[in-house]
Amino acid sequence: MMRNLNLVVRLFAFSGSFQSRKMSSENCLFCKIITGSSPAKICFQDEEIIAFHDIKPASKNHILVVPKQHIDNVNALDASNISLVEKMVDCGKSVLGELQADISDVRFGFHRPPFNSIKHLHLHCISPMSQMSFTQNLIFRPNTWWFTTVDRALDMMKSKI
Ligand SMILES: [Zn+2]
Ligand SMILES: [Zn+2]
Repeated sequence: MMRNLNLVVRLFAFSGSFQSRKMSSENCLFCKIITGSSPAKICFQDEEIIAFHDIKPASKNHILVVPKQHIDNVNALDASNISLVEKMVDCGKSVLGELQADISDVRFGFHRPPFNSIKHLHLHCISPMSQMSFTQNLIFRPNTWWFTTVDRALDMMKSKI
């Protein structure tokens, strides 16, 4: 009996910490942009996603596409999120198109944790990729342990059904 009680107490403690981690979305910059309490140069939004300009652009055009639901990072995605990610990519392409960016000279991808400065999933859409600085190229170098392309992320998600 004592043992069971101990377990229940632990479970409560665990769910409490889980909840407080979920609450951290209240302090999340991107959640604030989504609710309108933080400013951003918004390019597009619907009920599911929002796209805005990165405040520190790595090239002439640098858009972030963000799901409105707070998702911590790319590792939290699974097969059920494939259509969401595909929609984010389509959105990034169409926004870059509206900005007259060269769609053949782009870099799209996600940070891999813990190398995500903002802990809310965001797709980086950068164009022209060829005008990125050495440092930016390093930060957004595809398929490193700090940055993944969309294709690699989708493969990972498909394996997590
Ligand atoms: Zn958030
Ligand atoms: Zn980022």
